[in-house]
Parts: sequence; C-alpha cells; structure tokens
Amino acid sequence: MKERIDQFRRRAARYLGRDPLPVQPGQGVLSLSFDDFPKSAWEVAGPILKDHGIHATYYVAGGLCDGSNMDKVQFSERDLQEAFEGGHEVGCHTFSHTSVLRLDAASLKAELDRNSDWVAERLDGHRMSHFAYPFGDASLGAKGLLGRRFTHSRGVTDGVNTGVADRNNLLSIGLESRRLPDYDLEGLMAKTAESRGWLIAYGHDVEADPTPYGCTPQDLVRVISLARQAGLSILPVSSAFSMMSAKSA
Ligand SMILES: [Zn+2]
Repeated sequence: MKERIDQFRRRAARYLGRDPLPVQPGQGVLSLSFDDFPKSAWEVAGPILKDHGIHATYYVAGGLCDGSNMDKVQFSERDLQEAFEGGHEVGCHTFSHTSVLRLDAASLKAELDRNSDWVAERLDGHRMSHFAYPFGDASLGAKGLLGRRFTHSRGVTDGVNTGVADRNNLLSIGLESRRLPDYDLEGLMAKTAESRGWLIAYGHDVEADPTPYGCTPQDLVRVISLARQAGLSILPVSSAFSMMSAKSA
C-alpha cells in the first residue's frame, strides 16, 4: 500500500506543480552529475573528466561522508574539497540521503539546512544553489519548498529536457549499469543536438565492476565521446541552467 501511495506521489510530482523553464541554449548541452557521492565518482571519474577538459556536478549528502552506501566507500572531505577546488560544481542532496517522500516540510527544511551548513563549513562558505532528489523521489509539497529555495532541482525521470522543462523536476538519464544497455545513447544525443535541448546524466560509482547504480570508466568515456560527436556542449548542471535562464530573461 505504501509503495502504491509513493508511486502516486511520484507521478503527481511529474505532471503537477510544474514550473516552466524554457530550454533554448545556443546548442544542445550535456551535463554530467554524480550523486551522494561514492569515492570512485571522484577518484576514478575525476581524472577522466580532467583528461577531457570537462566539469561535472557532485550532489552531496553530508551524512554519507566517510561512510558506506550500497557497499561502496563514499567520499571524504578531501575528495569533496578537491572536486570543488578543481572547478566542479557542488549541489545539494538531503543530508541523511532520506527521500523527500519520508520528510514533512519541517524535516525537509532541517535536512537542507544541515546539509547546507555542513558543506559551507568545508568549502569556504559555499552555499549550494541547486538540488537533486535522493532516489529521484519528488513530491508536490517538496517541489514547492525546493522551488523557493533552489534555482532548480533534478529528478531521475528519463528524458531530454526540450522546449519547456520543469525547473523543479528536471529530466535525466542514468549512467547506471542497470539502465545503460536499454538507452539509445546515439539517439538521445542526436535528439538533444537537433532540438537544442539539455540532456542531464546522473551516476554514482565509476568502477570496473560497478553497482547497478554506477557505470564503468569506459561507459563514462563513451558518453563523453558521443556527446562530442553529436556537437553538444558539456557543462555542469548549474552552468547549463544559467545559460537557459539568461536566454529566457
Ligand atoms: Zn542519492
């Protein structure tokens, strides 16, 4: 029963309470993001990104620092600081990595405040301006609260953001071993280029033997290469968002 209610709430958040964001960059854009984040998203993916001259977005849950999630070692403070100093973006998850479906407004606010302070203390006062829903779970109530607090929020509903997107629940695709075989990546890149859309990819661990929620280094390189072949710009999430808002202003 609870799962059915959760499904209904996720679906409602997909179709209702939309906050229109015109997506009209000069050319199609790919953004790469990593959630939580596992240590390999920095130690393995970081050098790949550097080799390709790309910056990504790391969505941080402070409560996972130095811990373990899905049997994978998570980031350290040093990893976070290195990523930030390397020019990558740091965005907000909930502190405890709790789904917004399990948080009332006051608890969600407390989670966001705690994460915000935790990150600011470690990144020279940096205040995170955008959010990614843990587990991709969005709710109507959370969308309202997050929309007032952040410039934009990313979900995990499959798709390319084209035309008019939902600022508070942006579409994305998973750099996940459980999903990648089913994607037509060339087709998605071509659609993004043709429609001058915004394709956001999210992943977790990047390892030779990834979890179902992670990918291999080769997968990451392939996504970057395909985006380049399709003529897409590759920008972190918030930089891409700024480009959209500048166009629509
Ligand atoms: Zn997460």
